[in-house]
Amino acid sequence: MTKLLPNYSRVVIIGGGMMGVGLLYHLAEAGWDDCILIEKGELTSGSTWHAAGQCPSFIADYNMAQIHHYSNTLYPKLEELTGQATGWHGCGGIRFATTEEELDYFRLVEGIAANVGFRMQIISPEEIQRINPFVTTEGVLAGAWTLDDGHVDSASCCNAMAKGAKNYGATIIRNNRVTGTNLLPSGEWEVVTQQGIIVCEHVVNAGGCYAARIGSWVGLNIPLTNMKHQYVVTEPIQEFINRDEEIPVMRDPYANAYYRQEQKSGLIGIYERSNSREAWFGSEQAWEAENELFAAEFDPLMPRLERVMERMPVYSKAGIMRIVHGAISHTPDSNPLVGPASGLRNYWLCTGSSIGIAQGGGCGKYLAQWMVHGAAEINMIGLDPRRFGNYATTEYTTAKSHREYQDMYDLMLPGEERMDGRPARRTPIYEKLKAKGCVHTEAMGWERPKWFSLDGREEEFSFRRNNVFEVVAEECRAVRERVSIFDLSSFSKYEVSGPDAEAFLNRICANKVSRRASGIVLSHVLNERGRIQSEFTITRLGADRFYLLSGATSQVRDFDILNLAKLDTEAATIRDITEDYGSLVLAGPRTRELLAKLTSVDLSNANFRWLTGKEIEVAGVKLIALRVNYVGELGWELHTPVEQLEAVYDAIWAAGEEFGIVDFGVYAVNSLRMEKAYKGFGVELTNEITMIEAGMERFVNFDKGDFVGREALLQRQKEQLNWNIAYVEVDAEDVDVHGGEPAYDGDTVIGLTTSGSFGHTVGKSLAFVYVSPEYAVPETTFDIEILSNRRQAKVLAEPAYDPQNKRLRA
Ligand SMILES: Cc1cc2nc3c(=O)[nH]c(=O)nc-3n(C[C@H](O)[C@H](O)[C@H](O)COP(=O)(O)OP(=O)(O)OC[C@H]3O[C@@H](n4cnc5c(N)ncnc54)[C@H](O)[C@@H]3O)c2cc1C
Repeated sequence: MTKLLPNYSRVVIIGGGMMGVGLLYHLAEAGWDDCILIEKGELTSGSTWHAAGQCPSFIADYNMAQIHHYSNTLYPKLEELTGQATGWHGCGGIRFATTEEELDYFRLVEGIAANVGFRMQIISPEEIQRINPFVTTEGVLAGAWTLDDGHVDSASCCNAMAKGAKNYGATIIRNNRVTGTNLLPSGEWEVVTQQGIIVCEHVVNAGGCYAARIGSWVGLNIPLTNMKHQYVVTEPIQEFINRDEEIPVMRDPYANAYYRQEQKSGLIGIYERSNSREAWFGSEQAWEAENELFAAEFDPLMPRLERVMERMPVYSKAGIMRIVHGAISHTPDSNPLVGPASGLRNYWLCTGSSIGIAQGGGCGKYLAQWMVHGAAEINMIGLDPRRFGNYATTEYTTAKSHREYQDMYDLMLPGEERMDGRPARRTPIYEKLKAKGCVHTEAMGWERPKWFSLDGREEEFSFRRNNVFEVVAEECRAVRERVSIFDLSSFSKYEVSGPDAEAFLNRICANKVSRRASGIVLSHVLNERGRIQSEFTITRLGADRFYLLSGATSQVRDFDILNLAKLDTEAATIRDITEDYGSLVLAGPRTRELLAKLTSVDLSNANFRWLTGKEIEVAGVKLIALRVNYVGELGWELHTPVEQLEAVYDAIWAAGEEFGIVDFGVYAVNSLRMEKAYKGFGVELTNEITMIEAGMERFVNFDKGDFVGREALLQRQKEQLNWNIAYVEVDAEDVDVHGGEPAYDGDTVIGLTTSGSFGHTVGKSLAFVYVSPEYAVPETTFDIEILSNRRQAKVLAEPAYDPQNKRLRA
């Protein structure tokens, strides 16, 4: 056999579907032309060729919306760029709202659209019928009309990007299956193929429905379920023939379906409800499979197909010409897996997309930025494959993926929980708290207290303040006035120890670890460009032993970041001890009195001041007590050996009753941290920005010498910034900032909110907004549009609550 492969390439991408080709195109465009894509059959022969090709821009997540929007701007111009037609139809889309909540949802997305830059209008049922005269709108309150999207011919579009990639100098090798990937002692990857071996610096798994198998070669557990999905194409419809204009792509929660024109025929895709099905259930797709389709299955389609016919009676006049029944991979949260694989240097994932035609272009662009420049210009936290851990077992992934598939067009209201696959990770007091009325929410598989229903009420989910508002106010009041306890065992916890532990942490973190015995600092890992990667609370527990805490969802990613950053020459050991310890947050002005009943340790400021962490005994249990918290009160976090968490909780509760102790959850935490203007990792602090835009310079120690990102930060200080963070008070009515809302000066968008909450102690609605720097000045006012309603925001000079930290130091 002729050897087609070179011996070496900078990047090898496995898989020539929309995701792999989208990445190849953008790597080559960015100047990495030394890239090879290897496809086992023909390009697009996995899921891509048969896709219906819709590219929606209606997405309720600001970062994902940017990905979709980028694809929708690239595809229409690809033909001109490459000479290869894509079959782009810029017919737009209309999604239906049938409830007031869905209408609020539209308003939220309308705000995101204003920021991202795609056109969207909320239109009346009459307007819907003007645009699509064939649709009935019974029960429809409004439509979300997105004008800049449409559909493509999936195979042509993918081939156009392939042609573009080749024009930029990239190589595509077809009909050559990859059979293995091996890490070489040099740190490079050896990709074994049917046509020989190629060595590369970066390997990318873009294997679509095969991605989990490809990942298993290197021990990865990639959380994917391959679902079956089908759409129907009708015979030509006279009404469509008679009309020049094409109807938009309709998205209809009532039918759980999309429907549109396919030339002069109808195309109807259904997401089944209870009877969603997996592809190759119990077995695996054959390696030899190419352009594989399954036999049509009418029964699962029928209930929803009937609803589509109700909506679009013209469809019922035509017979069915063909049914396309193929496989799509789904992840537990429906977002694709785009970014580094855990534990493996330079092994990337670009897969797991259930709407990969719409996302291939955008995912390719931003992953290429990440690979080439070390960071993407958008926040990638929701795509990073390391947002999942070992808890995402096959059972978990399957349960979640079915639910995600079935609920494709369902609105998830703020606070609404899907229980599939749960509980995946429980703390030892999960059942105890549940019995006390705890309503849990999930983070990284953990069940975390969200709020406590002491009177048996259930949350009435809404974008607006609801019947839990007053309950949260009570929890906040207890934290501020008495003493409260919160099970935060979901913290990610690491131990870094060894002779070089301190030097290692000082080299990779922007702040300097405390020289003081038992000192605590907040410190951030930056990349070479000074962008924020991680946030750690670092406690010195000994001369060469440090205890690191980060957020629950960072567990896998931060462990990776620490390990990848460590040099072979550095004598430091990094251990993930997340599951060894449980954590209780004890906060409120009576905390010291309460704790004093359970420990002989002197808790006074003289012996145990703020930002100090010590190993002490509480209720007879040796634990790590940190005088620090995220809620801005006198308090200690108690990190106990996990098996003793319950004993410590019980002892605290018993001792706390005389002080009026209560449990609290993350709803209250969000309100309390907003009052203190504490920024959230992954929300305010992201890979998009540096510590300077984020207003976090006080946590950067330039004097300590070199650290990763120092030069970039010094340079950034001299540059004109595009964005600065502003902490604002909002003149809100019955709805607070969710994140993703636009800020306006007149009709000009000047910023984007990241998060917000009502501060129950200060009685103010508070938010963080990234704005053009001239608007970040205290006392400046501008508007924030919350659910289509302009509200005035005023920039605050300092935290709304206890700006001097007197409570923390009490
Ligand atoms: C009926 C249906 C309708 C759909 N409609 C839409 C839609 O309207 N809009 C939308 O956005 N999405 C739609 N999708 C989803 C879309 O098809 C997928 O999300 C998308 O194609 C995924 O692209 P991918 O590149 O990840 O995977 P794939 O297209 O499957 O590409 C993976 C490639 O990897 C190759 N490969 C695997 N293993 C190896 C190996 N060992 N060596 C070399 N090559 C290998 C495969 O041959 C394959 O070509 C639809 C899906 C179905 C089933």
